[in-house]
Amino acid sequence: LFSSCSPKVCVVGSGPGGFYTAQHLIKARPDVELDIYERLPVPFGLVRFGVAPDHPEVKNVINTFTQTAKHSRCNFYGNVNVGRDVTINELKEAYHAVVLSYGAEGNRTMGVPGEDLAGVYAAKDFVGWYNGLPNCRELNPDLSCETAVILGQGNVALDVARILLAPISMLKSTDITQPALEALAQSQVRRVLIVGRRGPLQIACTIKEIREMVNLPGTKPEMLPADFEGISEVLKDVPRPRKRLTELMLKTALETPGEKELERRKSASRSWGFRFFRSPVEVLAEPRTNKTSAIRLAVNRLEGSGADAQAVLTGEVEDVTCGLVISSIGYRSLLIDPGLPFDSRKAIIPNSMGRIQHTPGVYCSGWVKTGPTGVIATTMNNSFDTARSMMEDMDSGALDVSAVKSGSQSITALLRGRGVKPVTFADWEKIDSVETKKGEAEGKPREKLLSVEEMLQVAQT
Ligand code: FAD
Repeated sequence: LFSSCSPKVCVVGSGPGGFYTAQHLIKARPDVELDIYERLPVPFGLVRFGVAPDHPEVKNVINTFTQTAKHSRCNFYGNVNVGRDVTINELKEAYHAVVLSYGAEGNRTMGVPGEDLAGVYAAKDFVGWYNGLPNCRELNPDLSCETAVILGQGNVALDVARILLAPISMLKSTDITQPALEALAQSQVRRVLIVGRRGPLQIACTIKEIREMVNLPGTKPEMLPADFEGISEVLKDVPRPRKRLTELMLKTALETPGEKELERRKSASRSWGFRFFRSPVEVLAEPRTNKTSAIRLAVNRLEGSGADAQAVLTGEVEDVTCGLVISSIGYRSLLIDPGLPFDSRKAIIPNSMGRIQHTPGVYCSGWVKTGPTGVIATTMNNSFDTARSMMEDMDSGALDVSAVKSGSQSITALLRGRGVKPVTFADWEKIDSVETKKGEAEGKPREKLLSVEEMLQVAQT
């Protein structure tokens, strides 16, 4: 009944972690049969719901993922929430090996008073809103204020700053959702401050994202020269990528611009700037409306130097008037099944090279393995490592692949019994085609369907 000689593997999550693990296993082992289970009816994780709409080139990885999904030894089952619709134990029963690549869908909170006020949003939700993540559809962020403060200075923070300030003409030909585009067209936000605990030498974003801010049409930089004191002097000892990034910030903050740039800045109606050495203390409300009116920031100084420098409170605080606060201080993986080990401090599944501790036959890759840092290429490498660990275990016998396993056959039967209808890759291609057509009519690469119901309706007709 079942083909006994092929190792059956399933992957949970269809972001880069899941797809790169699948790709490597399929390529390197001509006998592996692989199934991907995904919570949403649509694949690709943060490539669809995280990567900024004005970074279409980053999304080209979808082509490679599609090739993997269409491979004769690979099957995709969307609309299956592992941990709720099917347990890890049930997957372990049905497969020789299970790989958890379900990403980091929670977020770190600031833990300060006022965090729940109207006008305060997690970057994760704000990004989900402009990228069409179904559960962020109703966010409707209030963009009626002039100044927005973003807490955190990583690439996600810069994505959010750019989307808030970009000219609509730049966004309207991207796959940003239509409701987000309309809200941004009405937005009153003119000034975005990007706040970090430490200094310019510790900033967490990459040079590409800073360059995009520096060149963003219609905007000018608004930096505090004092934040850059002493930086030029230590620059020669800084590793090269960071050195180039710091030089760009120094130039933007301190140098007198040339004539052309001066003209550009003069005609700018919007501004952005980094604010260093500041941590959030409290979000303050306008008493009448109980909406965000300002954020109180503690002033820090640095102890130590380089990447390990620590922010230490000086005791001084300052209030910055703003109506919008977006906290971009990091994503967090969640525990999806109580039977799994979980390191709640680091918010990862404890593992060595992708082998989950004390849980033979179960592996992890992507952000749930490493924590929520790094670009798609980093995720690719750590996913290839996990695939290699699994293949080593198959070769050494540490992973027993001799038993006959039922694979998707028993899992789909089980799901059917529970009223869950998986979405196949061919179903996804129907959604894809509807979205692309809708987008074409508006001059966009795609107009995303915004609810799970709509997606399922298209998939299952
Ligand atoms: P994810 O991409 O999050 O994939 C996890 C998948 O698991 C999702 O599809 C999710 O729906 C699914 N899942 C979750 N729970 C379950 C469950 N219980 N059952 C089944 N499935 C489940 N990198 C770049 O290189 N360039 C960029 O421009 C860039 N921009 C980014 C912008 C943002 C806002 C963010 C947050 C990240 C960005 N990255 C970028 C980083 C990149 O997105 C990550 O490195 C990568 O997506 C991590 O892959 P992953 O598979 O671990 O997680």
